[in-house]
Amino acid sequence: MGPRILIVEDEEPLTLLLRYNLEAEGYTVDAVARGDEAEVRLREQVPDLVLLDWMLPGLSGIELCRRMRARRETERLPVIMLTARGEEGERVRGLATGADDYVVKPFSVPELLARVRALLRRAKPGHVATLLTAGDIELDRETRRVRRSGRELHLGPTEFKLLEFLMQSPGRVFTREQLLDGVWGHDVYIDERTVDVHVGRLRKAINRARKPDPIRTVRGAGYSFDETFSHAE
Ligand code: CA
Repeated sequence: MGPRILIVEDEEPLTLLLRYNLEAEGYTVDAVARGDEAEVRLREQVPDLVLLDWMLPGLSGIELCRRMRARRETERLPVIMLTARGEEGERVRGLATGADDYVVKPFSVPELLARVRALLRRAKPGHVATLLTAGDIELDRETRRVRRSGRELHLGPTEFKLLEFLMQSPGRVFTREQLLDGVWGHDVYIDERTVDVHVGRLRKAINRARKPDPIRTVRGAGYSFDETFSHAE
């Protein structure tokens, strides 16, 4: 099970967007819409990171953050504050005492995910798996290198992200739309056929010397990373 993230946010569409993207990255996600509810939840279970909205019904994000810092169980818990435009500036800087980081809405999902990863890495080194392995394929997130049977493969940045995304959830079938969202991000418009082009390039790069193809095309659905590919030899 991946690191546990608690989302405290009262805008439901944003919660859904965050949940979807965090779960696709392998995190376990829990969400509440009120500050006071979040306080109760944090007493039941301490997550690995909190995404905390500033303006919340029940109890404000700032007050919740202050209370979290006052309790031994949550005093070091990584917190990323989500603030609306206009709330930034002096007030956000004042947060230095409480939150570890903050993003201003509307933010880009890939950027937030990068901050989540960075913060988790800082808080608990080794907590986010830096090495993904499947059969004879090894992907190192830290050095951005991919090896197959010990030989380094040269992938373009998009192919690397695509492979990383697929290897995070082996066996799961992703539609082209989900791959676009996960690899390119929600806020860009790219034709779904682009996915096929990059899958083709990725296959070419990783399947040299007649190695079995780990990427499965699921007709009418999309693609998945087949974790049993190495047994096919
Ligand atoms: Ca709010």
